[in-house]
Amino acid sequence: MFTHVDLRTRFGERGYGGLYSSESLVAVLEEVETAFLKARADDAFMDKFKDVLRNFAGRATPVMYAERLSEKYGRRIFLKREDLLHGGAHKTNSTIGQLLLAEYMGKTRIIAETGAGQHGVATAMTGAKLGLPVEVYMGAVDIERQQTNVKRMELFGAQVHPVTNGGATLKDAINEAMRDWITNVGSTYHCFGTAAGPYPYPSMVKFFQSVIGNESRAQMVEMTGALPSAVFACIGGGSNAIGMYSAFEDDPDVLLFGAEPAGASEDPDRHAATLTRGTPGVFHGMHSLFLQNSEGQITNTHSIAAGLDYPGVGPELAAMQDSGRATFEAVSDEETVNVFAELSELEGIIPAFESAHALALALRKAEELDPEATILVCVSGRGDKDLEEYWNYRGI
Ligand SMILES: *Cc1c(COP(=O)(O)O)cnc(C)c1O
Repeated sequence: MFTHVDLRTRFGERGYGGLYSSESLVAVLEEVETAFLKARADDAFMDKFKDVLRNFAGRATPVMYAERLSEKYGRRIFLKREDLLHGGAHKTNSTIGQLLLAEYMGKTRIIAETGAGQHGVATAMTGAKLGLPVEVYMGAVDIERQQTNVKRMELFGAQVHPVTNGGATLKDAINEAMRDWITNVGSTYHCFGTAAGPYPYPSMVKFFQSVIGNESRAQMVEMTGALPSAVFACIGGGSNAIGMYSAFEDDPDVLLFGAEPAGASEDPDRHAATLTRGTPGVFHGMHSLFLQNSEGQITNTHSIAAGLDYPGVGPELAAMQDSGRATFEAVSDEETVNVFAELSELEGIIPAFESAHALALALRKAEELDPEATILVCVSGRGDKDLEEYWNYRGI
């Protein structure tokens, strides 16, 4: 059900990853590492993790053959339905894994940061289930824009702290959460939102999300008698992608693709395409690719998909791009919105704008693939949250 991951501190020839944190945090990150290694080998921990994934979150999620879409594009297309997971997206896999680990470590308080609110909601929801108090740092600007998610977090009993520093958005919220953690390392666990940040988060979150890839692999073999020819996921920080890829990375015949946001085509400077347009740097505790100016200041990003609007990317994906194991391309807001409508009409599924990026890239690549190819797309979440934005975009 899970891929064994080596807790690697560095990835690829350029040595992405690492642990660039203040001394007081290094000690607690090592404590997290030790606890994770112990928990993963502990049947009681793993049984509880599987139980909560099944009975609270609703795993396994199905792989569905998209019949009408396949007919239109002339290739067999399969959808991994993470949109059906409790909470509406794959984030729940990681928050359950991390909060159970916090409990295992004897931590009594959870902190998280959130941009649009999706990771904050997933953490608050899981905290309610496990009886762990959650405090979420969120930029004041984001709080203003995402009132529904703030109300959800509060309903789950979480406390939302507005962050007014800097641009008052996600990266400022991450800095505040880090500051909190340094002061409260004894009692507190920091639940990070993606497969990025300092060691050991990139590999640990990969492990928790590897359930996506492992289920998909078995489901594809059962449905088609073989592994998929090509696998597609969208890239924010990279957790659904690395979780999906984890089950196929050692099968060189399976092509791996990732879609990142090209943003608004009428303004080519507004995007969040970190892998294809970023440069190496150090930020948020890791060496990776970032969108930054020549002085190393992180730039403002844009995507119609709030969950992809992050100026960095997980270090393992940066290394997979260098080695050629995975191929990344950018998808515009316009293509995303078109696919959002197309999947709704043809398959009765409203995908998250994030997931629509992955599907748009799959449809772009379909005709380059062998006519017998099978395509597996990770539908990372459901799109009900994006309805209003969709109609705004259409000008209706
Ligand atoms: C948060 C989110 C993403 C992006 O996060 P990753 O860590 O890159 O997976 C993608 N899809 C949905 C639906 C999300 O909520």
